[in-house]
Amino acid sequence: MNEKLNTIDIVIPIYNEEENIHPLMDRLNSMAKSRKNIEFTYIFVNDGSRDNSLQLLKEISSDNIKVKVISFSKNFGHQAAVTAGIDISTAEATVLIDADLQDPPEVITDMIIELEGGFDIVYAQRISRKGESWHKKLTAKAFYYIFDKLTNINIPRDTGDFRIMRKCVVKELQGMREKHRFIRGMVAWCGFRTKAFPYHRDARNAGETGYSYKQMITFSLNAIFSFSSAPIKFVNYMGLFSVLLGFLGLVRLAVLWIFFNEYDKYEAGLIATLIVVLFIGGVQMISIGIIGEYIGRMFEQIKDRPLYIISEQINLDVDDSE
Ligand code: UDP
Ligand code: MG
Repeated sequence: MNEKLNTIDIVIPIYNEEENIHPLMDRLNSMAKSRKNIEFTYIFVNDGSRDNSLQLLKEISSDNIKVKVISFSKNFGHQAAVTAGIDISTAEATVLIDADLQDPPEVITDMIIELEGGFDIVYAQRISRKGESWHKKLTAKAFYYIFDKLTNINIPRDTGDFRIMRKCVVKELQGMREKHRFIRGMVAWCGFRTKAFPYHRDARNAGETGYSYKQMITFSLNAIFSFSSAPIKFVNYMGLFSVLLGFLGLVRLAVLWIFFNEYDKYEAGLIATLIVVLFIGGVQMISIGIIGEYIGRMFEQIKDRPLYIISEQINLDVDDSE
């Protein structure tokens, strides 16, 4: 099998990145020059940007059919944007990269070499990350630790979605229509020949992160509830524990009453009862909440709404095969 690549699609999600689009394009172009034999196509997905990003994308795509643009009708989120790019990708390999230059485009050249060396997925693994707050790093660490414990999917530490994947992997992803998407988990779930490529992650070139804390929490919960049934098992264990505790209390009460006739003295047990009621009540509420998380996700899935809505597309119906 010839492992060398002839065509590569680069998928770039865009949410308010007007200051980064030109610098990114410059660096991608010079990266592409290092591999002249490969035909690169750029798939920009405008995820409802509120700044001038779409205008800039229109400009750069007007005289270059290798720049394709999909524009969403509103903000559908980073994972949806990446999904849209993957959905229309047809090349022999597909790269996912952020637009803010935190992922240096030059690294793609090295990842291509690794891929051609006989792999299906090469993901970029951060040796260092600049310009990220300690609490972002700490919460990320905690999340991956929990995800690792709760699922049987092995997500490599310190990775994002920055990666290159062969068509065989992309095809599988195109077939996965789940609503709550955690793309790096879905890729890991697929298997295939996988390799890590270590790199230094830069600080964001310009602009602000498009991920609020609320979005980060939603993202983490989606990852856990979509890949693990451990939380619902936890409900079972909590229930079992509560029943056992109640049964032991009952036995104790019975023994004291029957053998020691000490029942009356235990009227003060009212307080204890109160504590138990509160405890069990809390356990039940948490349990219903956890079940609710799954039911809510099932509801979303059953509704089967599209993952995103495209309002505009550029250079997509042109035949650019040479
Ligand atoms: N992004 C997006 N939709 C969003 C948020 C972000 O398409 O709702 C894009 C953003 O333009 C960037 C990438 O996803 O190219 C990563 O986002 P960001 O840099 O804001 O996230 P962070 O690096 O802070 O996790
Ligand atoms: Mg970023």
